[in-house]
Amino acid sequence: MKTLLIIFTIIISETIMPQNFDFEQHLYQSYERYKENSLTHRRFKHADIIPLIDKLKHQKGFTVKVVGKSVEGRELKLITIGHGKKKIFMWSQMHGDEPTATAALFDIFNFINDTTNKDFCKALFERVTLYFLPMVNPDGAERYKRRNFYDIDLNRDASRLQCPEAVILKSVFDSLKADFGFNLHDQSHRYSVGNSFKTATISFLAPAYNYEKDVNDVRGKAVKLIGNMYQALNHFIPGHIAKYSDEYEPRAFGDNFQKWGTSTILIESGGWKDDPEKQFIRKINFIALLSAFKSIAEESYSNTSAEIYESISFNDKYIFDVILRNLTMKSGKEKIKIDIGINLDEFEGPNEKKIYYKSQVDDLGDLSTFYAYNDYDFDGYTIERASVYEKKVSPLNKLEKIDFYDLYLKGYSTILVKKLPDEKFTRFPINLALENKIDTTINIGESANFVIKKDGKVEYIVINGFLQKVEKNRKFEGNGLVIK
Ligand SMILES: [Zn+2]
Repeated sequence: MKTLLIIFTIIISETIMPQNFDFEQHLYQSYERYKENSLTHRRFKHADIIPLIDKLKHQKGFTVKVVGKSVEGRELKLITIGHGKKKIFMWSQMHGDEPTATAALFDIFNFINDTTNKDFCKALFERVTLYFLPMVNPDGAERYKRRNFYDIDLNRDASRLQCPEAVILKSVFDSLKADFGFNLHDQSHRYSVGNSFKTATISFLAPAYNYEKDVNDVRGKAVKLIGNMYQALNHFIPGHIAKYSDEYEPRAFGDNFQKWGTSTILIESGGWKDDPEKQFIRKINFIALLSAFKSIAEESYSNTSAEIYESISFNDKYIFDVILRNLTMKSGKEKIKIDIGINLDEFEGPNEKKIYYKSQVDDLGDLSTFYAYNDYDFDGYTIERASVYEKKVSPLNKLEKIDFYDLYLKGYSTILVKKLPDEKFTRFPINLALENKIDTTINIGESANFVIKKDGKVEYIVINGFLQKVEKNRKFEGNGLVIK
């Protein structure tokens, strides 16, 4: 009994926080306390994060160093904390429109600065040193696009090193020779976990370092650590964790860093229902990284079976934004049963905080093997193309007074105007056009504008992919298109 007690005490002293995911549970519950409230959406820019980074200079333990400049002269800053032997390097947003993890890094800084976590951080920083390089591609972030100023994908420049941002990332990597690296990205929200009907909210990868996809000690550690992170996160997003494609890409950073000796982990933030700004997924990133720091500090990952990683399903593409199912479409005397898969692509409005959507019919027919964020069964309903209200409205502000309910009831999704606005989208709950060029059949590739009827009466209208029940005074959630 005495020996058992001694062993037990040794195990306890090895850990810096309770096991059994109490730590992750605690992070989940207390997250709001640490959330960096100045970052509220995905389109924040370099100018929004620089004051937050500069504030860290005055926080105990942090050092901030300028490590270079982007093509357009935006400074990249390396943030360091800790004095432990094991080095953990993480870099985010080398693709400008992939900001979810960047926001989470600032939540982590707030966690570290919060005195309630003093003991945890003290123990952590005796064992590890953390290096953060947020927003590697600030020029891309400025335009909310993937590539950098030269339109080069930085993640294909790890070998040739032609862009300053790639040179900086590589030189910081070389200067650190870190034990672990976290390569932080966003992926399409339309990935599923294998052929399940679940969205791939987080996808992990221990990138391959050769075409044979061999596993050496370096990659093996990344594989095991992912196993730990998978177990920790699966409590919060059960079934929503996938594995990213593991094809070797000799031009990518993750693959090369793995080859050059740092156990590298790719984290891709995907989609979660009703989380268009990915604020919940940001919280999951916060938990994932802190959980990983703890695993590395305690070396608890080394006991994790590689089989957990092996068993994670790969990303697949079984998710639409919207599916309208089991509708009856009439063509002359024929009646056909169809499902319609619609995707909505987002665009930045004149005000960068306002997002507009453009819909597209992406598939038709039997979509029973697919799933959608917004999935509707319309068994017993008929569908047809919505029509165009041909009496021209002018000036545009007259639209303020129009009763859209009456137009919807008559099956109109588009209204003609004498002069179109300059923008591509309208906040009005209808599409605007100069003339009636609109086809009457439902085709792939066109925007989704339909009427859905039961017993000959219009019950629903679809305007630019947004489904709306036709009822008096119902608020429209979406935007119309300006059809040029
Ligand atoms: Zn990316």
